[in-house]
Amino acid sequence: MENMIELEECPCCRGAGMIAHEGGWNVQVVCVDCGSCTAYVEYDTEEEKLEAERTVARLWNMGKVVKSNPGE
Ligand SMILES: [Zn+2]
Repeated sequence: MENMIELEECPCCRGAGMIAHEGGWNVQVVCVDCGSCTAYVEYDTEEEKLEAERTVARLWNMGKVVKSNPGE
């Protein structure tokens, strides 16, 4: 079964988005070019992990990201 998650281009710079796990309990999508990212979503189980990945991908694809340099 495929669990591929489609990520749109970065809403800020059109760069590539990457799903990034941290500490094995939360995940976010980060732009590899400008560092913009979505909010973290936490998970406990493998099932929740997949759901969390889908959730952050959805946030990313909707453009709900935080820019890395809010001063600009
Ligand atoms: Zn970007």
